[in-house]
Amino acid sequence: MAEKYKVQLDRPGCIGAAACAAANSKRWVMSPQDGKVDLTEGKPMKQEGWLETEIDEAELATNIEAAKACPVAVIHILKKTTGEKIA
Ligand code: SF4
Repeated sequence: MAEKYKVQLDRPGCIGAAACAAANSKRWVMSPQDGKVDLTEGKPMKQEGWLETEIDEAELATNIEAAKACPVAVIHILKKTTGEKIA
């Protein structure tokens, strides 16, 4: 079975640099309300303000790119099965 991945956003830590949106404009959409980014299909996490969603292999590369491009490192990507952090 193909591996799935969790994408997590520490939204309170986002400074609105938009580098993530440049890497994957469907998953990362800048909010006109507060200038931070929204994670498409993101569900609230236990940590206040954090969002999480699940992606498959096809979307992995552009989300790793987004995580690496983020100047404040508030995007995290983990393997769903093992929880291993890959970006
Ligand atoms: S690159 Fe990082 S700081 Fe910039 S909008 Fe995306 S999550 Fe926020």
